[in-house]
Amino acid sequence: MSMLRYDLHSHSTHSDGLLTPAELVQRAAQRGVDVLALTDHDELSGLPEARAAAREAGLRLVDGAELSVSWHGGTLHVLGLRIDPDCPALRDGLAAIREGRSGRARRIGDALATAGIEGAYAGALRYVTSERLISRTHFARFLVEAGYVRETKDVFRRYLVPGKPGHVEHVWANMHDAIDWIHAAGGRAVLAHPGRYKLTATGLRELLGEFCDGGGDGIEVVSPSHSAAQIADFARHARKFGFLASSGSDYHGPGESHVDLGDMPPLPFGLTPVWQDW
Ligand code: AMP
Ligand code: MN
Ligand code: MN
Ligand code: MN
Repeated sequence: MSMLRYDLHSHSTHSDGLLTPAELVQRAAQRGVDVLALTDHDELSGLPEARAAAREAGLRLVDGAELSVSWHGGTLHVLGLRIDPDCPALRDGLAAIREGRSGRARRIGDALATAGIEGAYAGALRYVTSERLISRTHFARFLVEAGYVRETKDVFRRYLVPGKPGHVEHVWANMHDAIDWIHAAGGRAVLAHPGRYKLTATGLRELLGEFCDGGGDGIEVVSPSHSAAQIADFARHARKFGFLASSGSDYHGPGESHVDLGDMPPLPFGLTPVWQDW
């Protein structure tokens, strides 16, 4: 049995993380991670820098991305792991998601202005470290700095979520398309943090069934978004549906993430790790 330490979910300044790809890789190596996936939201541009840094640090880099998907009116995240970053179908799909994302950011700015918060779009842009990707995280950093809330996590209770100021409807990629792009790029499609979607037991079974039928390969069983009970629960679902199991810290940077790179509990027994044949 392999004793390598895997972390298959992380973010850099090429999406909403705080560390550059090189800094992220160096931190992972220092923390004893052997295999790291960089999975920026809807973006592949950080991978070359991460790959070069990984070569230097003696760590294995897995090319990845976290795709934003709409499903039954909600948003899901699907990780593409070990994708070919040059695959045209994947690149085109991600470019389309990013274009929608930038229009959405302007609508978020307008919605916040309607709620009396001026200058949010320009404010969020000050926190954007990649010209190509703006996310709610950047609005959250602005709202904290401007004193509307104390901490980032409060933003996602009081703003930017359904029913709250700054929430806008948005349609991301279709789940089946996202899985197909990942497969076209030779990767594994893994449903990220399934415990985050606030689904009923029935809704969850429906999602997992559709993800499975659509060719989805695995689910992220171990995630800081999951309690110990949820980890056990998703392990059961993985066995039942025959999903591969993944594990990732979803690290966004010092001070933003309470779980550091590589700091996850082991996968529960009886699961097939997504890295089994790597
Ligand atoms: P977006 O893709 O623009 O909708 O932004 C989603 C990002 O917001 C996620 O990837 C997280 O980084 C961040 N986020 C969402 N919910 C929370 C939360 N409750 N606390 C902290 N960050 C969150
Ligand atoms: Mn994020
Ligand atoms: Mn996510
Ligand atoms: Mn993530």
